[in-house]
Amino acid sequence: MNSQASGSSTYRSLAQQQAVVTRLLDSQLLPRFAQECNAVGQIAVRLAFKRDDQGRVQVVGTVQGDSELGCHRCDHTVWRKIEANVEVLLAFNEDQAAAWASQQAGSEVVVVSSANLDVVELVEDELLLALPERVCLDDDCPNMPAMFYGGEGLASVGEEAVQEDVDENRRLPFAGLKQALQDGEDKAP
Ligand SMILES: [Zn+2]
Repeated sequence: MNSQASGSSTYRSLAQQQAVVTRLLDSQLLPRFAQECNAVGQIAVRLAFKRDDQGRVQVVGTVQGDSELGCHRCDHTVWRKIEANVEVLLAFNEDQAAAWASQQAGSEVVVVSSANLDVVELVEDELLLALPERVCLDDDCPNMPAMFYGGEGLASVGEEAVQEDVDENRRLPFAGLKQALQDGEDKAP
Protein backbone atom coordinates (compact mmCIF):
# COMPACT_ATOMS: atom_id res chain seq x y z
CA MET A 1 0.00 0.00 0.00
CA ASN A 2 1.33 3.36 -0.91
CA SER A 3 0.61 6.34 1.22
CA GLN A 4 1.16 9.95 0.37
CA ALA A 5 0.61 10.51 4.02
CA SER A 6 0.07 13.97 5.29
CA GLY A 7 1.64 15.26 8.46
CA SER A 8 -1.32 14.04 10.44
CA SER A 9 -0.51 10.37 9.91
CA THR A 10 0.61 8.67 13.05
CA TYR A 11 3.32 6.05 13.18
CA ARG A 12 0.86 3.61 14.70
CA SER A 13 -1.69 4.09 11.93
CA LEU A 14 0.99 3.72 9.26
CA ALA A 15 2.15 0.50 10.88
CA GLN A 16 -1.43 -0.72 11.15
CA GLN A 17 -1.90 -0.12 7.40
CA GLN A 18 1.55 -1.51 6.59
CA ALA A 19 2.02 1.69 4.67
CA VAL A 20 4.94 2.51 2.44
CA VAL A 21 5.90 6.16 2.47
CA THR A 22 8.04 7.63 -0.29
CA ARG A 23 9.38 11.15 -0.22
CA LEU A 24 11.84 13.39 -1.99
CA LEU A 25 13.46 15.67 0.53
CA ASP A 26 15.13 18.95 -0.31
CA SER A 27 18.26 19.90 1.54
CA GLN A 28 16.60 22.65 3.54
CA LEU A 29 14.55 19.97 5.26
CA LEU A 30 17.78 18.31 6.39
CA PRO A 31 19.73 21.14 8.01
CA ARG A 32 22.15 19.02 10.00
CA PHE A 33 23.00 16.89 6.99
CA ALA A 34 23.22 19.89 4.66
CA GLN A 35 25.66 21.53 7.04
CA GLU A 36 28.10 18.67 6.50
CA CYS A 37 27.96 18.98 2.73
CA ASN A 38 28.82 21.65 0.20
CA ALA A 39 25.65 20.90 -1.66
CA VAL A 40 22.91 18.31 -1.50
CA GLY A 41 20.71 16.98 -4.25
CA GLN A 42 17.26 15.64 -3.57
CA ILE A 43 17.22 12.83 -1.06
CA ALA A 44 14.93 9.92 -1.92
CA VAL A 45 13.31 8.17 1.01
CA ARG A 46 11.33 4.95 1.03
CA LEU A 47 10.06 3.69 4.36
CA ALA A 48 7.85 0.68 5.00
CA PHE A 49 5.94 0.60 8.25
CA LYS A 50 4.66 -2.46 10.03
CA ARG A 51 4.02 -3.89 13.44
CA ASP A 52 6.38 -6.50 14.76
CA ASP A 53 5.23 -9.56 16.70
CA GLN A 54 5.08 -7.52 19.88
CA GLY A 55 2.95 -4.82 18.30
CA ARG A 56 5.78 -2.34 18.10
CA VAL A 57 6.17 -0.01 15.16
CA GLN A 58 8.96 -1.20 12.89
CA VAL A 59 10.35 0.85 10.02
CA VAL A 60 12.42 -0.64 7.23
CA GLY A 61 13.60 1.32 4.24
CA THR A 62 16.24 3.16 2.35
CA VAL A 63 17.42 6.71 1.99
CA GLN A 64 19.70 7.83 -0.80
CA GLY A 65 20.84 10.87 -2.68
CA ASP A 66 23.85 12.75 -3.97
CA SER A 67 25.83 15.25 -1.99
CA GLU A 68 28.87 17.33 -2.75
CA LEU A 69 31.51 16.92 -0.08
CA GLY A 70 34.72 18.78 0.60
CA CYS A 71 37.90 16.80 1.16
CA HIS A 72 39.60 17.54 4.48
CA ARG A 73 43.03 17.07 2.92
CA CYS A 74 42.78 19.08 -0.27
CA ASP A 75 40.55 21.71 -1.82
CA HIS A 76 38.65 19.29 -3.96
CA THR A 77 34.96 18.78 -3.70
CA VAL A 78 33.47 15.54 -4.90
CA TRP A 79 29.91 14.47 -5.56
CA ARG A 80 29.25 11.24 -3.73
CA LYS A 81 26.25 9.01 -3.59
CA ILE A 82 25.05 8.68 -0.03
CA GLU A 83 22.99 5.60 0.76
CA ALA A 84 21.73 4.22 4.01
CA ASN A 85 19.40 1.51 5.14
CA VAL A 86 16.89 2.22 7.83
CA GLU A 87 15.76 -0.57 10.12
CA VAL A 88 14.49 0.66 13.43
CA LEU A 89 11.89 0.13 16.10
CA LEU A 90 10.10 3.26 17.17
CA ALA A 91 9.81 4.03 20.84
CA PHE A 92 7.60 6.83 22.05
CA ASN A 93 9.58 7.60 25.18
CA GLU A 94 12.98 6.92 26.67
CA ASP A 95 11.73 4.34 29.18
CA GLN A 96 10.28 2.25 26.40
CA ALA A 97 13.50 2.47 24.45
CA ALA A 98 15.60 1.49 27.45
CA ALA A 99 13.38 -1.50 28.21
CA TRP A 100 13.55 -2.79 24.65
CA ALA A 101 17.27 -2.28 24.40
CA SER A 102 17.89 -4.33 27.53
CA GLN A 103 15.59 -7.19 26.56
CA GLN A 104 16.70 -7.47 22.97
CA ALA A 105 20.10 -6.49 21.75
CA GLY A 106 20.56 -5.87 18.08
CA SER A 107 17.46 -3.91 17.24
CA GLU A 108 18.09 -0.25 16.77
CA VAL A 109 15.53 1.75 18.70
CA VAL A 110 14.73 5.34 17.83
CA VAL A 111 12.81 7.51 20.25
CA VAL A 112 10.49 9.68 18.20
CA SER A 113 9.46 13.08 19.45
CA SER A 114 5.83 12.81 18.43
CA ALA A 115 3.24 10.22 17.53
CA ASN A 116 2.99 11.79 14.08
CA LEU A 117 5.11 10.91 11.11
CA ASP A 118 8.28 12.94 10.73
CA VAL A 119 10.33 11.50 7.88
CA VAL A 120 13.29 13.77 8.55
CA GLU A 121 13.49 12.59 12.14
CA LEU A 122 13.73 9.01 10.94
CA VAL A 123 16.37 9.47 8.26
CA GLU A 124 18.66 12.40 9.03
CA ASP A 125 20.85 10.57 11.51
CA GLU A 126 21.19 7.68 9.08
CA LEU A 127 22.33 10.08 6.38
CA LEU A 128 24.91 11.61 8.70
CA LEU A 129 26.23 8.17 9.58
CA ALA A 130 26.47 7.28 5.90
CA LEU A 131 28.82 10.14 5.09
CA PRO A 132 32.15 8.72 3.90
CA GLU A 133 35.23 9.31 6.03
CA ARG A 134 37.35 9.77 2.94
CA VAL A 135 35.93 12.07 0.34
CA CYS A 136 38.62 11.86 -2.34
CA LEU A 137 39.35 8.69 -4.11
CA ASP A 138 42.99 8.08 -3.27
CA ASP A 139 44.37 8.91 -6.69
CA ASP A 140 42.64 12.25 -6.86
CA CYS A 141 43.97 13.63 -3.64
CA PRO A 142 47.45 15.18 -3.58
CA ASN A 143 47.63 15.08 0.19
CA MET A 144 46.78 11.54 1.07
CA PRO A 145 49.08 10.12 3.75
CA ALA A 146 52.39 8.85 2.40
CA MET A 147 51.57 5.27 3.31
CA PHE A 148 49.24 5.02 0.36
CA TYR A 149 52.08 5.78 -2.01
CA GLY A 150 54.89 3.91 -0.25
CA GLY A 151 56.74 1.29 -2.27
CA GLU A 152 57.46 -1.77 -0.16
CA GLY A 153 55.68 -3.15 2.85
CA LEU A 154 52.13 -2.29 1.93
CA ALA A 155 50.89 -5.63 3.18
CA SER A 156 49.42 -4.05 6.29
CA VAL A 157 47.17 -1.79 4.25
CA GLY A 158 44.70 -4.46 3.30
CA GLU A 159 42.05 -2.38 1.61
CA GLU A 160 44.65 -0.73 -0.58
CA ALA A 161 45.97 -4.03 -1.91
CA VAL A 162 45.13 -3.25 -5.53
CA GLN A 163 46.48 0.26 -5.21
CA GLU A 164 50.08 -0.60 -6.04
CA ASP A 165 49.48 -1.35 -9.66
CA VAL A 166 47.57 1.84 -10.17
CA ASP A 167 50.26 3.91 -8.49
CA GLU A 168 52.93 2.24 -10.58
CA ASN A 169 51.24 3.46 -13.72
CA ARG A 170 50.71 6.91 -12.37
CA ARG A 171 54.29 7.38 -11.32
CA LEU A 172 55.52 7.01 -14.88
CA PRO A 173 52.70 8.34 -16.99
CA PHE A 174 54.92 9.67 -19.72
CA ALA A 175 57.00 6.53 -20.02
CA GLY A 176 53.84 4.66 -20.90
CA LEU A 177 52.72 7.39 -23.23
CA LYS A 178 56.04 7.43 -25.05
CA GLN A 179 55.93 3.68 -25.47
CA ALA A 180 52.40 3.90 -26.81
CA LEU A 181 53.38 6.58 -29.29
CA GLN A 182 56.35 4.54 -30.45
CA ASP A 183 54.18 1.49 -30.85
CA GLY A 184 51.79 3.57 -32.87
CA GLU A 185 54.56 4.84 -35.12
CA ASP A 186 55.96 1.38 -35.64
CA LYS A 187 52.58 0.07 -36.67
CA ALA A 188 51.72 3.05 -38.82
CA PRO A 189 51.71 2.26 -42.52
ZN1 LIG B 1 41.47 15.30 -1.29
